Parts: sequence; structure tokens; C-alpha cells
Amino acid sequence: MEHKSIAIDGPAGAGKSTLARKLAGELGFLYVDTGAIYRTVALAAIRAGANPGREEQVLPLLSGLDIRLDYGPDGQQRMFLAGEDVSQAIREHRISALASAVSAIPAVRDFLLEFQRRQAREHDVVMDGRDIGTVVLPGADVKIFLTAAPEARARRRLLELRERGQQAEFDAVLRDIQARDRQDESRPVAPLRQARDAVLLDTTSLDLEQSLQAMLSLVKERLEL
Ligand code: C5P
Repeated sequence: MEHKSIAIDGPAGAGKSTLARKLAGELGFLYVDTGAIYRTVALAAIRAGANPGREEQVLPLLSGLDIRLDYGPDGQQRMFLAGEDVSQAIREHRISALASAVSAIPAVRDFLLEFQRRQAREHDVVMDGRDIGTVVLPGADVKIFLTAAPEARARRRLLELRERGQQAEFDAVLRDIQARDRQDESRPVAPLRQARDAVLLDTTSLDLEQSLQAMLSLVKERLEL
């Protein structure tokens, strides 16, 4: 039987990962966080002494890259690099910008394309990222483009970082978000943009529960659940 897939794209801090995870939980689908995969490649690059933004330094690493995606007993996605669980390490603030840099390298995106598509062939998935509806799963059953004003996204990201015990200032987080938006939107390969057949959901003035309900009703209507 064909598996169902839901593609969720949008800029950093729009609530994608939290909402995609909850949506997957409600539907009984597997949640695939593709940002975590790019973060793992960035971590692999710096651990190998390479600059994640330098194509000529990253390319030689790809063939030997040992990345695995698995799910813990709690159902949470976990990332393994050469057998080591790096799920925590990839959440460090500095890895965000490095993941954005490494993800602009076309060979990295090609390398990860099949990795991501395999998940969707083998399971019903809710997959979130930047190019899921446009490149990775162009035939997804439902596509949602989640966005919110940069200030709202910075506020949410700040809370998230503080909950994890990391120090951060609003202005710095906002600047990071805007820089990452620019980098993700302007790269020549698979830039962040809304797929033509994606539904736009702006969550600036919605809380998490309202956003989730909006997504659920859309998905149920589309999948005739
Ligand atoms: O979603 P997250 O913030 O964890 O992603 C980290 C970075 O990985 C993003 O800034 C983006 O540049 C990149 N990314 C991507 N394509 C995806 C998912 C993430 O380019 N599908």
C-alpha cells in the first residue's frame, strides 16, 4: 500500500518541529525532522576539522559519512553519527548556522535526498524541513507552509533555548533568524519557498493548540479521515 506523506516547510522558529511532531502523534504517522539530519552533517564536518561552509572541505567527507536516524522508546527521533547518539549535541545554538551553511552545498542536499525519501517510502510520515514540498516529496498528500513574523519566531526560539538552559538575548536570536532566513531563501539549490500547492499557515497570532487544530482539520479534510 502507498504510504501517506505530509510535508511541512517554513522558516526557522515557525513552530514546525513542535507542530509536526504533535500532528504525527495525532495521526499515528512517523515524524521525520530533516533539519536534524543537516545538523548532524554539520557536526560531522566540524568534528572532522572541516568548515561546514566550504564545499571543497565537506565533499571528501560525504562518502564516509555514517549517519543513522532512529526512534527512542519515547518515540522521539534520535540521530547517530558513527554510532554515537548526537541528538543533544546537534541542538547547540552554534550548530544552527553551521547546518544552514552545510545545507547550501548542492552535493550535501543530493546526498541526503534519498535518505529522506526512503523514510517516506517505508512509513506514513509527517516530514518537516525547508524543501520537503518542493524537492524531497513533491507528490506529498498534504503540503503546509508554516510561517510567522520574525519577531514572533525569535520570541519562541528564545523560550526554547532558555528551557534548555542556554543563555541567549532576544536581539541576537532575532538577528540569527533573519540571517538564516536570508541564507535559506537565497541559496541557488532548493531555496526555502512555498510549493505552489502548499497551504500557507501564518501562526503569528495563533498559539500552539490553535495552530495544531488548523493543521489537523486541513489534513483530515485532504486525507478524508
Ligand atoms: O530546522 P532546523 O533549524 O533544525 O534546520 C537547520 C538548518 O538546516 C536550516 O537553517 C536549513 O538551512 C537547513 N535545512 C535545509 N533543508 C531541510 C531542513 C533543514 O536546508 N529540509
